Amino acid sequence: MPTHQDIMQRLARVCETSDSKVIHKVYEQLKQQHYRGILPAKFIQQCEAETGLSKVQISLEILPLAACYSLAPVSNFYVGAVAIGKSGNFYLGANQEFAHEAMAQTVHAEQSAIAHALMAGETAINDMVVNYTPCGHCRQFMNELNSAKELKIHLPHSQNNPLHSYLPDAFGPKDLNIEKVLFDPQQHNCSGQGDDVIQAAIKTANKAYAPYSQAISGVALLLENGEIVCGQYVENAAFNPSMQPLQIALNNRCLSGLSNIAISRVVLAEKQAILSHRKITEALAEQHLGLTVEYIAL
Ligand SMILES: [Zn+2]
Repeated sequence: MPTHQDIMQRLARVCETSDSKVIHKVYEQLKQQHYRGILPAKFIQQCEAETGLSKVQISLEILPLAACYSLAPVSNFYVGAVAIGKSGNFYLGANQEFAHEAMAQTVHAEQSAIAHALMAGETAINDMVVNYTPCGHCRQFMNELNSAKELKIHLPHSQNNPLHSYLPDAFGPKDLNIEKVLFDPQQHNCSGQGDDVIQAAIKTANKAYAPYSQAISGVALLLENGEIVCGQYVENAAFNPSMQPLQIALNNRCLSGLSNIAISRVVLAEKQAILSHRKITEALAEQHLGLTVEYIAL
């Protein structure tokens, strides 16, 4: 399984073999922030001023750095993405694959960047920048965003493309009468007993986006250094591109530069509904982490 050391080595190699000023500057910034893959709006403004490049040009140039966060034991195909938030922050993302697990557990790079932004509290995504053309699954996933109508896709070979030019005659949340969509604030009111890690899982579940099943759920991972990393459930009008809470939590841990710190507990908090993430979460936790899931029924 690729490790944090692999990610650091890949980033260093990209930097060594590149004469791009932007790559060098972003690499130094990532090192300074312990490889946390969020580039603050202020830092991006400095990059724009120093290089004369636009936000989109900067994001395209740093895609090889984003792709370093890829975990691709199945495909060995490294996809990097940058989601540009309404705040001006850049959120890196990369495909996350899990060996010995079902294909359905795979996180695509665009999903990775979007889930990363969502967990960081971003309110909308303006631009998606990615090193390969988005697959059908990701086009559908992005159609769930509150910014889907205005979202621009930028690829190395083609920029400023509206999402809907890739997804004509789209099916989406509006067809199912959902008005409050992904990245719009969600607040459920579940509560339960338990320590800080359990409370973190419940708090995360209370922000879940589950308008189709109401199966709100959230995962909290306790790391051995005491940090807690969370992931919420994100649903999709087409159902299958939905993301499970443990996928989002593991993605968040990787993009936060914390994949070298072992996980000691996995807590899943879930409202009792027509769907359950219990079995799929247990399967990934047991296979990938060797841990038993603590289940909190809400
Ligand atoms: Zn995809």
